[in-house]
Order: sequence, then C-alpha cells, then structure tokens
Amino acid sequence: MMAVLDEKLEPIYQDVLRRNPGETEFHQAVREVLESLGPVLVKHPEFAEHKIIQRICEPERQIIFRVPWEDDSGETHINRAFRVEFNSALGPYKGGMRFHSSVYLGIIKFLGFEQIFKNALTGMPIGGGKGGSDFDPKGRSEAEIMRFCQSLMIELYRHIGEYTDVPAGDIGVGQREIGYLFGQYKRITNRYESGVFTGKGVGWGGSRARTEATGYGTVFFLDEMLKVRGETLEGKTCIVSGSGNVAIFAIEKILELGGKVVACSDSNGVIVDEQGIDLAVLKEIKLVERRRISSYAQRRDSARYRENGVIWDVPCEVALPCATQNELTGRDARKLLANGCIAVAEGANMPTTPEGVRLFLDASIAYGPGKAANAGGVATSALEMQQNASRDSWTFEYTEQRLREIMVGIHRRCHDTAEEYAAPNNYVVGANITGFLKVAHAMVALGLV
Ligand code: NDP
Repeated sequence: MMAVLDEKLEPIYQDVLRRNPGETEFHQAVREVLESLGPVLVKHPEFAEHKIIQRICEPERQIIFRVPWEDDSGETHINRAFRVEFNSALGPYKGGMRFHSSVYLGIIKFLGFEQIFKNALTGMPIGGGKGGSDFDPKGRSEAEIMRFCQSLMIELYRHIGEYTDVPAGDIGVGQREIGYLFGQYKRITNRYESGVFTGKGVGWGGSRARTEATGYGTVFFLDEMLKVRGETLEGKTCIVSGSGNVAIFAIEKILELGGKVVACSDSNGVIVDEQGIDLAVLKEIKLVERRRISSYAQRRDSARYRENGVIWDVPCEVALPCATQNELTGRDARKLLANGCIAVAEGANMPTTPEGVRLFLDASIAYGPGKAANAGGVATSALEMQQNASRDSWTFEYTEQRLREIMVGIHRRCHDTAEEYAAPNNYVVGANITGFLKVAHAMVALGLV
C-alpha cells in the first residue's frame, strides 16, 4: 500500500503523472521523494511559494537524439540516446550514461531525478543529470562498441563540458566506453578537457579508487548503519546481487571488513558458493574475460549455478542489491526478513520496489536507500574533477580515506535529519529531506531560473 501524500503534494504528483505519461520509473522515484517532504513544507512555507517542488520535478533540459552506426558485417543500426540535464542549482549536471536495451526516457529521468538529491547529499558542488541509450553492448565486438560511442559523441559533445555537464559510467558503461567517448570528444573539440568526464583510466586523468568507489562506499555506509546498532560486518553472511562494477567492489570491501559473501548474480542466474565467493575468480571472469557468471560454477566445486534463480531466496544476514531498479520486490523482502536479514544497503539505484521498502522500514531493519548508500561513486567523481582542476593525482589510500569520510558524513546527516523530523533510523526520510533542503535553498537563492 502506498503512503498518503500531503494535500499540497498530491496535486503536484498528479501533474507529474499527467505531464510524463508512461514513465513509470520516473513516477516511482518522484513519489518516493514527495512522500518524505510533507513536514518540510510545514517548516519552510517559502518552498511552496517559490514552487520549488514543481520546478525540481521538471528537468531543466532534455536531449533526445539518433545514433546511427554500422556493425562489423556492414549492417546499419539506429539507436536512441538521451541526456537529461535535470538540475544545476548546485553545480554542473553530473551523472552517468547507461547502455542497456531497457533504456527509455522514463529510466533516464528517474535516474536523473534521484541524482539531484544524491549529489546534494555528498556535499560536493555538483548538479544532477543522467544519460544513456537503448544500445545493447552484450555480444558486440570491441570495434562495434567504439563506433557506437563515437557516433553518440558526435551529437553529445555540444551539450557537455567541464562547467556544463559531466557524464560518467553506469550499467554497460565502464572505463572502456568512457575512453572511447572521451577520445571522440577530444578529437571533435581539440581540447584535452579532462574534467568533462569522470571514470577515466588512471593513466589518462582518472582518479584512483573511482572504479571501486560505489561498491566500497555502499559498504562504508552499511558499516555505519550497523555501528549505530552495535553491530559490525565481522562474520556476517552477505549476498550481493549483480556481478558488475558495483557488485564486485562491494564484495571486495565486505571481505576486507570480515564479512562472508555467499551469492552473487547476473541477469541470467545466481551463483551460490557456501564457502564464500572467491573474489579473484569472480574478477577474472567478469573483468578480464567478460564472461557470464555461470562460468564461475565451472571453476569452483563449492559453487552452484541457479539459472533464473532469485538471489533473495538465499539465506543471509545482510543483503546488497547492486544490479538494477526494482530487482527486489515485496515478496523478496518478506523472504529476506523471514530468513533473518538485519541490514540492506543499496548499491544499485532504486532496486527495491515501494512495497519492499515499506516492509523493511516496518520491520525496522537497517535499510540504506541507494541515493545515500551508493553516493560514494559520484562523490569520488567529484574528487576526480578536483584532481583534474588542479592537475593533481592523489594516492589510492588518500582517495579512499576521503571517500570513507564522505560516506560517514552522508550517513550522519541522513541519520540526524531523520531524528530531527521524528523518523529515527529512517534513512529514506533522512536522505530525501537532507538532499532536498540543500537543493531547495540554492534554488530560492538563485531566483526564478
Ligand atoms: P554494470 O553494467 O557493471 O553491472 C550491472 C550488473 O547488474 C551486471 O551483473 C548485470 O547483469 C546486472 N543487471 C543489469 N540489469 C539487470 C537486470 N535487468 N536484471 C538482473 N541483473 C541485471 O553496472 P554497475 O555495476 O555500474 O551498476 C549497477 C547498479 O549500480 C545500477 O543500478 C547503477 O545505476 C548503480 N550505480 C552505479 C554507479 C557506478 O559508479 N557505476 C554509481 C551509483 C549507482 P548482466 O551482465 O546479465 O546484464
């Protein structure tokens, strides 16, 4: 059942539904934030007067364009690409590019909308944006991926820049794709403008620890939530969905902090390894060979592969959804709770359905929503921008230390705001209100723009 919206917010939400038909993920992301904001409007009537919520729900600019490219056999393909520049009150638009067959405007808008609040939460000077394409990189050759990236950039280059809009990676876009995109941007503009992209390779302007940052940051946030409850990760049984960038480095940090990871997945199935996932084998399969997770079971006697399995059925104390939106449903949440799960930290964006979120909150487990828990990725992107601006390059240890401090700070702000608004330990309320207040105050200060 959905929570009732404040009477001032319901018409705004209805307007969002009417103006953005069919964009269900965007509707879901907006509703989730609005459900937290009722008490804020009581304390801050100026936000209603300035129509801040209506303005924040409308992207500043939405770009949709055609990307034609040729595959290795000479056949032409047409994809659609997007860049939604959502809010620049706090800094240049900042957010990743996603390449996945499911991408359409509603997905990019939900991600861009969440990004506004997440970026505000980091305390860094970055606005919110997101982009992507319905291009499916699976099974494509290196050369095809490069041609696609180059074709996309022929249009995108005119909309981005160090002070305008700074893309990064997301699902289907890692360092390889950033390289091709950045290379083409450099060629078209004749500028080595490092700050236009983050997630670059360390040898060409990237930040150490950026690759690891989202996964590590999620585990740092989890660790803080556990501390509040007098717990640690030591000896805890964990499961991590996905086996991409975020999942792999979340697993790495869990292992460093003494936890045991017994399952991970991809969109085809689940690996269960009761002896604990062997990270070296996982990295070899996913990062070096770029193969499916099923091949992990062929290399480890202790592992079983469940085709089309549901990872949330695997008993655990701690669960980290690190794959995609709405991957954890109400049914899955019930199963996790029945199996004794005490903490959920979201590495992915909006991975839990509204029913699942409600169940976690009602059960009072430690639940860290993505916009707070996975903010370490974009925070380290902002650190990459800092290094680019000062032509500097920090050590891994220093950058990780900064990331850890940022995550501790995000956790504290969410925790304290939740208490202030009479919702103790509710990190959804804490994250939404903290992020919103920062952006809303800036929007009022900047006038009607
Ligand atoms: P990757 O492309 O590296 O990995 C994605 C993983 O999730 C893969 O294992 C993929 O499996 C799986 N997956 C994707 N779609 C589905 C699906 N529909 N059903 C089941 N599994 C799926 O992406 P990232 O690790 O970078 O991103 C994962 C999540 O983290 C996303 O929600 C992203 O928005 C979020 N995120 C990422 C950040 C970053 O810095 N990269 C920052 C903040 C959030 P398969 O290979 O089968 O597709």
